[in-house]
Amino acid sequence: MNILVLNCGSSSIKYQLLNMGEEAALLAKGIVEKIGLTYGSFTYKPTGKDKVVIEQPIPDHSAGMDLILKALVHPEYGVLKSLNEINAVGHRVAHGGEYFAESVRVTEEAKAKIRALAEIAPLHNPANLKGIETMEQLLPGVPQVAVFDTSFHHTLPPKAYIYGIPYEYYEKYGIRRYGFHGTSHKFVAEKACRLLGWDIRDKKIITCHLGNGASITAIQGGKSIDTSMGFTPVAGLVMGTRAGDLDLGALLYICEKEGLDVNQANTLVNKQSGVQGISGVSSDFRELNTAADGGNKRAALALEVFVYNVKKYIGAYAAALNGVDLVIFTGGIGENDQPVREEVCKNMDYLGIKINAELNATIKGEDKIISTDDSRTKVMVITTDEELVIAMDTMRLAK
Ligand code: ADP
Repeated sequence: MNILVLNCGSSSIKYQLLNMGEEAALLAKGIVEKIGLTYGSFTYKPTGKDKVVIEQPIPDHSAGMDLILKALVHPEYGVLKSLNEINAVGHRVAHGGEYFAESVRVTEEAKAKIRALAEIAPLHNPANLKGIETMEQLLPGVPQVAVFDTSFHHTLPPKAYIYGIPYEYYEKYGIRRYGFHGTSHKFVAEKACRLLGWDIRDKKIITCHLGNGASITAIQGGKSIDTSMGFTPVAGLVMGTRAGDLDLGALLYICEKEGLDVNQANTLVNKQSGVQGISGVSSDFRELNTAADGGNKRAALALEVFVYNVKKYIGAYAAALNGVDLVIFTGGIGENDQPVREEVCKNMDYLGIKINAELNATIKGEDKIISTDDSRTKVMVITTDEELVIAMDTMRLAK
């Protein structure tokens, strides 16, 4: 079964074509960027063949999808003979709100709910919906599935999702914690338990998805019971360019002093903050590490703040779970940044966390235990694969 996985943003489309045999095999992947701008760019990488890059105006999502489909069946660099070989399409959808506890087959009713949720996810859901509607036109009759970033966190109890504001805003506007990165948190927790031969139903796990966007989840018996992102992905950890938890009074004060309107405040906390804002150097941890090693004090401070935040959330979630059996690092930083992992786990012996620093320093992008044999809590690096989760759910629901 061939599954096309799409992640549509407002000006980009990331895609992968996977063949879901006994083992999933990636046939091709790439990205359409700068949709609607003067110069768009289309990248296509068929497995085992050279990358193709086309620069041309890409006026809308439909033109972007058209480029993807044409490349997949191109006589020279295509990987399919005909588009009939695409059996289903899986879409990453940012916000499933309180409607979707699971991935779903796309129906008119599902689309109406995704559309209604654009109200609370204006940056993401309209683009996701556009991807779905465009594919319905380009590949009529092919089953489509929506996989939500929020679904895994449906099990949060009210005490974890209700904010300390007048309850009527929850009732009127659905203001509550939803959480994101759900596919990743679920995938790495289940994968780790499989590798360890554990039954997830008796385990307490803290998953740290540390990428450009970063979130931490407390998982009890396989269910998310708390997570650091909130109503939007700006909450929780200090991230690449997002502020994370912030005194609301501080934001109001800045808005007043700088005369910022709502849009400008949104840009400030989502695009200009985080380690980028603290360091003034970069949101990229490789560049931050290099700058800090070269003596840049603010880059070093940004890294320290990031590490301290992760540590505090692990402590908080260990309290919420009444203990922790396993801590997982994943995402670009979690999988690759050995100093971050080492610093987070330093002085955590009260929680039974002891990592093998020498071993940790050798692990990049592999599934491995990095705690010492006598560590009460296991610590693992687990590689995530959100596209694979989308493809698996799509296959299950399209069959
Ligand atoms: P996104 O949220 O965009 O999917 P990723 O999970 O790809 O983000 O993570 C991107 C982050 O991972 C960047 O900050 C990048 O610097 C960091 N990263 C990737 N590779 C490494 C590495 N080898 N060492 C340190 N950090 C890395």
